[in-house]
Amino acid sequence: MLRLPPYRYHRPERLDEALELLEAHGAMARIIAGGTDLIPNMKHGLFTPDHLVSLRGLGELKGIEAKPKGGLRLGAGVTLAEVAASEAVLGAAPALARAARNVAGPQLRNAGTLGGNLCLDTRCTYYNQSEFWREALGYCLKKDGDRCHVTRTGRVCVAAHSADTPPVLMALGATLELASPRGRRTMAIRDFFMPDGVWNQKREPDEVVTAIEVPPVEDGLRRRTAHGKLRVRKSIDFPLLSMGLAAWFDDAGTVVGLEGVVTGLGSRPRHLTRFGELALGERWSPDLMEALAARAHAQCTPLENHIVDPDWRKAMVPVIMRRTLEQLGPVEGAA
Ligand SMILES: Cc1cc2nc3c(=O)[nH]c(=O)nc-3n(C[C@H](O)[C@H](O)[C@H](O)COP(=O)(O)OP(=O)(O)OC[C@H]3O[C@@H](n4cnc5c(N)ncnc54)[C@H](O)[C@@H]3O)c2cc1C
Ligand code: SF4
Repeated sequence: MLRLPPYRYHRPERLDEALELLEAHGAMARIIAGGTDLIPNMKHGLFTPDHLVSLRGLGELKGIEAKPKGGLRLGAGVTLAEVAASEAVLGAAPALARAARNVAGPQLRNAGTLGGNLCLDTRCTYYNQSEFWREALGYCLKKDGDRCHVTRTGRVCVAAHSADTPPVLMALGATLELASPRGRRTMAIRDFFMPDGVWNQKREPDEVVTAIEVPPVEDGLRRRTAHGKLRVRKSIDFPLLSMGLAAWFDDAGTVVGLEGVVTGLGSRPRHLTRFGELALGERWSPDLMEALAARAHAQCTPLENHIVDPDWRKAMVPVIMRRTLEQLGPVEGAA
């Protein structure tokens, strides 16, 4: 049986109290929201904090607000079940609701939060294992060792970013609000992640993500969004590949913007390059979708950080991309 190490649980009711606790306990403290990822990781001995500072009592992190012209403001403490069912989210960015609904199973979505999903630890076949299992292999670079079993060097960890909502939020151009004992700041989500599997966020460990803002749609444009996911089973599984798309159309149904973001491959979600430009000025068509699927295929390289065969995962990239693109069309022009 896997047991939790001992720790002290703090449940502040105000953000400033939470920040004081994080400052007071420094490296011995860790933020906990729903605990759906942190607690299993602690049972595996991956983290051994003496203090857990819970965000569950913080009213400031709650609520979803519809803003004018398709904008949204989401508290980082809202659960994934709330995001999936929110009329505001379904109206402004249905793919965000879909991505939240695609996470794990109902119990985990009831407890797991949007902020926890954004700050999820990276995952790897050689890391998300018991202490006993990892010791038998001589540990690895991400925890207690000096060698990566995937790259077979001692230089870099390529554990996979495995969260479903960030690709959609990145495609939408969302902004994050953060608070720490040193003050508050905002950051574009496209700048939030780093290509380092050990710690893949440009966030200090005592920095709390408090809210997420989705920008409005420009006058005269329509926005459509999509989320696609490859996983072994239709429920519960982490993504082998997760993708978020956002497209903007003018009145005539012509594409004026397209962003594609993929994750589940390396240590951060990333924008597909030279992707949107294929679609600019085009009407939505099967040929365009085929060209976009081919471009995604060329840019995605699955690694052996998952137990599932990388060649099969690579072959599935255009399949999942086609299915995801289908969520965006057909797009009718004005009569
Ligand atoms: C069986 C199983 C299947 C899963 N499947 C999926 C899946 O398909 N897709 C997916 O995306 N996830 C999956 N998860 C992971 C997890 O349930 C979700 O990612 C969930 O959203 C995590 O949120 P949480 O509130 O429980 O985070 P927690 O476990 O509380 O925290 C996760 C990490 O984020 C930090 N953190 C939490 N909130 C904040 C905040 N506001 N500011 C700063 N740091 C914060 C914590 O310190 C911790 O490091 C799965 C988990 C399990 C156990
Ligand atoms: S990618 Fe390498 S260093 Fe990172 S968790 Fe996996 S085996 Fe460890």
